[in-house]
Amino acid sequence: MPFALLKYGLKDDFPFEKDPDLPLPTDLKRHYDVVIIGAGGHGLATAYYLAKYHGITNVAILEMGYLAGGNMARNTAVIRSNYLTSEGVSFYSESVNMYKGLANEFDFNIMYSRRGQLTLAQSEAAVRGFRQRSEVNKHFDGDTDLIGPDDIRQLVPTLNMNAGGLPVLAGLWHRDGATARHDAIAWGYAKGATQRGVEIHQQTEVTDVIVENGRATGVKTNRGQVNAGVIIQAVAGRSSLLAAKAGFRMPITSYPLQAMVTQPVKPFLDPLVSSPALHCYVQQTGRGEIVLGGGSDPYPLYSTRSTLPMKEEVLTNAVKLFPFMANLRLLRQWGGIADMTSDYSPIMGISPVENYYLDAGWGTWGFKATPIAGKTMAELVASGGIVPDLIKPFSMERFNRFVQVNEMGATAASH
Ligand SMILES: Cc1cc2nc3c(=O)[nH]c(=O)nc-3n(C[C@H](O)[C@H](O)[C@H](O)COP(=O)(O)OP(=O)(O)OC[C@H]3O[C@@H](n4cnc5c(N)ncnc54)[C@H](O)[C@@H]3O)c2cc1C
Repeated sequence: MPFALLKYGLKDDFPFEKDPDLPLPTDLKRHYDVVIIGAGGHGLATAYYLAKYHGITNVAILEMGYLAGGNMARNTAVIRSNYLTSEGVSFYSESVNMYKGLANEFDFNIMYSRRGQLTLAQSEAAVRGFRQRSEVNKHFDGDTDLIGPDDIRQLVPTLNMNAGGLPVLAGLWHRDGATARHDAIAWGYAKGATQRGVEIHQQTEVTDVIVENGRATGVKTNRGQVNAGVIIQAVAGRSSLLAAKAGFRMPITSYPLQAMVTQPVKPFLDPLVSSPALHCYVQQTGRGEIVLGGGSDPYPLYSTRSTLPMKEEVLTNAVKLFPFMANLRLLRQWGGIADMTSDYSPIMGISPVENYYLDAGWGTWGFKATPIAGKTMAELVASGGIVPDLIKPFSMERFNRFVQVNEMGATAASH
């Protein structure tokens, strides 16, 4: 058997040799119409929509590591649109709608699983806040309701209704809550973009941004200089570092964000469940593993190591929600870097430097925004800098005008 496999792999007509999903690396050209920094979900989606909808294909994505090896590989894949502000709900709803069609569009199984998200209200204040969120959601055609304890018991029979001594008074039931396989999203966009002529250069770190007379004209990389008509930074947890190279500051603080997963068990949990009061969320994967997460680490840091205090905190609270989990073993724990803004909304659009566009501030919530972020960033570039209406509220300049889009209450531990 092993020899048969080896023989098959070395055959001339081995299928992947003839028709690789991603082209083999090429030399960097000296000039591209568009350079995208970062091959995470957002950079890949932007390139894909630039090529697909606008015919802009002289595009290079420069990635310091490997394809989608940053936060894209580390997130817990929660997709939802039950936010608080009208700006947030309309933006994320559009993304959720796009997710629903991605498998067909890519002709690739993205393992999209719509199973609803249940956020628990464990105080009167939370019930009031959730009532407001469900009304805002409905106003934008969202499928979200405030439900009572009896409905919650039916949805999640194994839930402790008095978790941590905090009775579950109500729940925000968002039927559109879903997950999708993050790698598949990245591969789908990467394949679609490269088939249309986009180049992806891994192991290519942008070390400096060249700005002449207030205008970005190129980047320096560990593989030499590249000139560009337009540059987009889509570097998730390193946004402030890159902006500093372009000569400006961003209102972002970067924190480690961790998650973990247990050994697989029999299916017991269909919806995604989160408790803002306990700062913990729990979901079961198709393989039976239980994915767990909470808030970010309490101090700003550029580090992706796992810590014992975060493990203890998240597991203690998860066991309060589902006491039987005390007998499970943890398989893995990992971390990424979350670029947090003070209003928990992204920063998208133009920057103080001409021809240098921003897709940043994605904190703990950017995976679900991947399709719509890519589509709107592509529109921004193709239009020569006209900011699409959907992302106008997320301009960096909002912080100068004190017009924030406050999603803090709707983000908390739900991601
Ligand atoms: C533990 C965890 C759980 C999360 N859970 C969720 C969730 O459930 N739902 C949700 O919506 N969001 C979640 N998020 C947030 C989400 O993962 C991010 O907001 C999103 O992935 C960011 O966009 P991206 O995929 O483009 O980023 P990334 O995948 O991080 O892509 C950025 C890329 O830029 C590259 N880069 C950086 N600097 C340079 C440089 N100088 N030169 C070249 N390349 C560079 C990096 O190597 C990286 O590959 C979570 C994040 C973490 C860490």
